[in-house]
This record gives sequence, structure tokens and C-alpha cells, in this order.
Amino acid sequence: MIVGSRAVDVSQASDRRFGSNAQAVYERWDEFVDWAHEATLPYGVEYDASWLQSPVPAPRQVLAIGLNYREHATEAGFAAPAAEPPVFTKFPSCIAGPYGEIVLPPGGDTDWEVELVVVVGRRAHRVDVDKALSYVAGYAVGQDISERRLQMAAVPPQFSLGKSFPGFGPIGPWLVTLDEFKDPNDLELSCAVDGEQVQLGRTRDLIFSVPELVSRLSAGLVLLPGDVIFTGTPSGVGLGRRPPRFLRPGNELMSRIEGIGELRHRIVAEA
Ligand code: ZN
Repeated sequence: MIVGSRAVDVSQASDRRFGSNAQAVYERWDEFVDWAHEATLPYGVEYDASWLQSPVPAPRQVLAIGLNYREHATEAGFAAPAAEPPVFTKFPSCIAGPYGEIVLPPGGDTDWEVELVVVVGRRAHRVDVDKALSYVAGYAVGQDISERRLQMAAVPPQFSLGKSFPGFGPIGPWLVTLDEFKDPNDLELSCAVDGEQVQLGRTRDLIFSVPELVSRLSAGLVLLPGDVIFTGTPSGVGLGRRPPRFLRPGNELMSRIEGIGELRHRIVAEA
């Protein structure tokens, strides 16, 4: 847990009431938040950003939403969804931390998609829109890294495999609880390649907002504590450019959301 600019070991500070497995804390999220608010926390230690890994290392379900910003739907050649959001999965083995390397699959066209990531804090089934945010543990920055050839290869197209290579689901740099935001429904998000801004959007432009998504997804399936929702990407992905542009070895990929922080990854060729 980050307190100010220092790191507090939750397991130690809670006398082992909460363990050191970050994923397990979502099972007891309300209890954890109450403890964090009431406990007298130690001063903590200086920490190195390279220590940080995904704040949700092993979710049982990772849902991802396609075409959830109007301009991105247009650049991808689709009509904006009206009735229901298109949903796919990123298989959880693709989850990675906020910093490090992303390995390009050989022969692929690998693209960037900065996204607001929602982490579920309570079991959610048939949740009303107006109560939906109370089921959210917090937000993080995510990248829905996508290998477009495999994504488009099947008939009908299936998104999940092309978006689930190792390292294709970086999340971080930490989870931010919703009380930290002035307006959790309006955050600026952006992505840069080698310092050049390629995506810039605001989450208020989501076609299906976070409360809408939690409500609609939970209308069918059961959302479990620690599950992850990638909420969709704004315009500016490489596929939408003329000519298309994809990630190359040596690129530095930066993904940022206002009030949360940034991810930084170096793109490398397979060894
Ligand atoms: Zn996406």
C-alpha cells in the first residue's frame, strides 16, 4: 500500500490479518478498506518503482470491451455499438506489471490501446446502474496490447487470442480507490510512443460508462472479487492510421491516466 511517497507492507502492518498475496485482498475488500482507513499505519519505506507488479496479478475473469469510444469505433471501421457493448476476454496469463518489456510476437502487427481498468471489489450479480460503483474496488491504468493479424484472422473475428500473448495485459502502477478522484467518471487518458502522443481521450466519452458496464455485465454472469474489466480504448490506435502503424523493437510505450499514474514499457523483439 502506497502512503504518501512511501510503501507500507500490508501483511506486517496488519499483523498478518491480511497476507502478502495482493489478489487475495479483493475477497475481503470492504474489510480491507475499513482497516486501511482506521489502522495506525507505520511510516513505511522508500520504494523503487521497479518493485511494482500488477495490483491484480491473478484475476479469475478478465472482461474487455470493444469499440467503447465513438471515434475509435469509426477508425476501426465499425458503427458505434448502440444496444450492447461487444465483450471479449484477455486470458489472465497475459497480465503483466506497470514497467518492463513487451515482447513482439514474430510476424505480427502489434498495436497499443490505453484503457481504464476497473477492478471488482464485491461479488456482483444483477447490479443496478445507480449502485454499480459500490462494487468497484478501484481503477488502474491498463494496456490492451493487441496483435491485429491473429485478432482478425478467424471468421467471425475473435479478439481474445490476439490480445492474450504473454505480457499483453499490463496493469498498474497501482489500484486507486474511487474516493481519490474528484469525478471517477471523467478522467483523461493518453498513450505515447517514443514520446509522441498517439492517443488522448476522456472517460466521460465512454459509450457504456463504468456503472453501465458493471450493471450490464453482471446482468448475465457473476462478477467476482478481483475480476478485471478493460473498458475500451479511445481513438488513435495504430490500426486506424493511414498507413497503419504498429509497435517496433526499441519503442518506448507510455500509458497514462489522470489521477492514477503511468505505465512504461520497452518493446522488444523475441530473442
Ligand atoms: Zn481494447
